[in-house]
Amino acid sequence: MTLSHTDQERSSDQELIELLRARGQRVTSQRLVILRELRRRGRHASADQVLAAVSSDLPGISAPTIYATLELLVELGLARKIDVGTGVSLFDGRTEPHQHTVCRRCGLVEDLDEPFEVVSLIGAAEQHGFRVDRAEVVLSGLCRSCAA
Ligand SMILES: [Zn+2]
Ligand SMILES: [Zn+2]
Repeated sequence: MTLSHTDQERSSDQELIELLRARGQRVTSQRLVILRELRRRGRHASADQVLAAVSSDLPGISAPTIYATLELLVELGLARKIDVGTGVSLFDGRTEPHQHTVCRRCGLVEDLDEPFEVVSLIGAAEQHGFRVDRAEVVLSGLCRSCAA
């Protein structure tokens, strides 16, 4: 089944509204606009990129508010925060498990949909008494155009 773009937006809004209400938090247009922007991009964005994209819809919104809202979306499970070693956190509207490649020359971050084997790493960590919640891999190198 494929949803039209508007239906998708509507169900994504609904999801956020329900999660916020369940926690007794306010449903604000800021929160809805920022989530929509993240989902619309379908790719990773820094808080600054989100700020630039939503500033016409949300005049006067500040970078700290954007950052706090993105953190809230991560906490609610509607976004992922990824660290690809560039020193800037990226926010990913795609929450299902996937890994990332990052280009060390142009900084391009792309999704990699390939299950990976971490059983031996997790086993080793657990032998040291570490309880693993999550494992992710960032592959660093050159993207197709930088490698050409
Ligand atoms: Zn590149
Ligand atoms: Zn991703």
